[in-house]
Amino acid sequence: MFDTLVLLRQYIRVRHLLRFKSRVELVAYQDRMLAKFFSKTLHKSTFYSAFKQRALDDFPIMNKAKMLENFDALNSASLSLQDAMAEAEQGEKSRNFKTTINGVSVGLSTGTSGTRGVFLVSDRERMGWAGTILGRMLPGSILAKHRIAFFLRANNNLYESVASKGRIEFQFFDLMSSMPQLLADLHTYKPTILIAPAQVLGILAQAQIRGDIEISPDKIISVAEVLYDDDAAQISNAFGKPVSQVYQCTEGFLGYSCTHNRLHLNEALMIIEPDWLDEQKERFCPIITDFSRETQLFIRHRLDDILTRDPNPCPCGSPEMVIKRIEGRTDDVLVLRDLAGVPQTLMPDYVTRAIAACPSVLDFKIEQNTDDELVVFLLASDKQLAKAETIQTLAKLFERHNLRSPTLTIEEQPSNDPTQKRRRVVRAKNIGLPQNEFKQKGQRK
Ligand SMILES: [Zn+2]
Repeated sequence: MFDTLVLLRQYIRVRHLLRFKSRVELVAYQDRMLAKFFSKTLHKSTFYSAFKQRALDDFPIMNKAKMLENFDALNSASLSLQDAMAEAEQGEKSRNFKTTINGVSVGLSTGTSGTRGVFLVSDRERMGWAGTILGRMLPGSILAKHRIAFFLRANNNLYESVASKGRIEFQFFDLMSSMPQLLADLHTYKPTILIAPAQVLGILAQAQIRGDIEISPDKIISVAEVLYDDDAAQISNAFGKPVSQVYQCTEGFLGYSCTHNRLHLNEALMIIEPDWLDEQKERFCPIITDFSRETQLFIRHRLDDILTRDPNPCPCGSPEMVIKRIEGRTDDVLVLRDLAGVPQTLMPDYVTRAIAACPSVLDFKIEQNTDDELVVFLLASDKQLAKAETIQTLAKLFERHNLRSPTLTIEEQPSNDPTQKRRRVVRAKNIGLPQNEFKQKGQRK
């Protein structure tokens, strides 16, 4: 009962109370919440107790590696990294995600960049999270009937917390199961809300077009992967609905699509400082401070994701920053030489949109393994034509960006594996990013 109350309270708060007329009002609210969070929670973490009475700017910038390094001192539940890791691995192995230690659920992130992250959530945080997600994403009232289908690579207590609250039904579809079985189950379940990684939504869209399944969800939500424009178009064609996004990762619930289907940062619940990557202040990595977390603290935690800001205000009226797109991670940035031989970055988004526009290319992946060679894997309706189109479109792209053309190797793309997180552009770890002279943090106002 207590759990349901926490969920409902947060749902009402997010849905009806956290509305801000202006940026000034939003920032003032964040400052009040931050002060409250500092006085209530900071002393519970050994790492942060020394920072009491300090301004946010004085806190060190954290990242996943530093978080793991200081894991024991950072969390307020007195959990060691070793115990937490063992617990989470056990959960994944047995695919029983319902266990907790000291009342805290432990989960692992997929670790696309090599290091697996560990995340901790208390029951209260889980319920608050569920209330937030439902408040932001539920089409219609929480009192109406909803059947949610959730496709994920690993379930977690976090997601179970949404399960079967009142008239809301929830079914987890484990991507480790066979796809034909998942399709049959989904067809029978007939969800009103469909949530899945973008790549899986693409597979479901194809199944719907083929007639293998026949479902008509009211809402389709892409999670956990970059939603590319070509995928979004295919999915919304198949189901006759726009694709919404939830930008959720191990580190928190960072963004959501509003009623006008634009992606807002979740600034009502966390402070997001942009770490700008360019002089024009278009692209940035988010530095998050989440004042709703009390078990594992995220204070000035920098993520590797690259976001592109949309300077146009949203007609929904929310002053929370609008994001044009999530481009991927900094590991997805290509580093190529310019005409003078100096290494320059090329954002993954330029490359993916150029190749996606080639008519014969159905799907693709690009790998950069050395500093002057790209391997392009293509799935095509006409292989020869797709190869020619790709070579031509990339040549134009390099020219436009004043880059030397690297050696291109074109190969056939193996079929997609829905159990693996999809990344269309990947740069090998040994190719470092050039130093960025434009770096400037902050300016959340
Ligand atoms: Zn909006």
